Amino acid sequence: MMKCTAIVLAAGKGSRMNSGIQKQYMELNGFPLIYYALRVFEQSCADEIILVTGQNETEYCRREIADKYRFRKIKKIVPGGSERYLSVYEGLCAAHSPDIVLIHDGARPFVTQEMIERTIQAAVQYGSGIAAVPAKDTVRITDAEQTAVQTPPRDRVWMMQTPQAFQYPLILSAYEKVLEQKASNITDDAMVLELGLQKKVKIVEGSYRNIKVTTPEDMETADVFVKHRRK
Ligand code: C5P
Repeated sequence: MMKCTAIVLAAGKGSRMNSGIQKQYMELNGFPLIYYALRVFEQSCADEIILVTGQNETEYCRREIADKYRFRKIKKIVPGGSERYLSVYEGLCAAHSPDIVLIHDGARPFVTQEMIERTIQAAVQYGSGIAAVPAKDTVRITDAEQTAVQTPPRDRVWMMQTPQAFQYPLILSAYEKVLEQKASNITDDAMVLELGLQKKVKIVEGSYRNIKVTTPEDMETADVFVKHRRK
């Protein structure tokens, strides 16, 4: 039997939300934002969930999230780090050598079972499976002075999402390499595989609904999505 662990990240400060309360605990249609992703993983084929939270939030999450909503697959709640990739590494270290690990931003409430299954399938076959969608806007790369220096062809540009699934030994060793190299600007886990082991990652279909709730506008969008879904 294949063992699969999900790492759900909720250790970000959410500074782009400009709100008093941290975004992962903000209320969306009667539930904390983080509840939605956890519920999907609770009902998925994942055997266990590791929740990564802020340094002083593990107790709060145990009481107000894991116990309150009876998420029986949350086996560990661990404090994260100052950057996303450091939080992921804490989650990886807390896992018990699963075959596959799924890494998911807790701020993406609209992940689906289909997406989880697609990323796992690709990870089994290719080593990694990264949910993503084609870019709708043209992307332009700038220099530090905001002068455009490069425009990649739009039909080759994809927006990375999560879940990102990996064979566990592969992503763990990639993380260890990257931590040794003290690399910076690591914003997703696919990058870690590329930088750490020079491996190519496999993209699978995500969804335009699978937004990352980052700014106040995203909360408005999420509110529409969540209400629409319940009809
Ligand atoms: O800030 P960013 O958009 O990269 O955050 C994506 C996810 O990573 C969020 O769910 C956030 O809570 C998490 N994160 C984390 N630890 C950090 C920074 C972000 O777990 N230090």
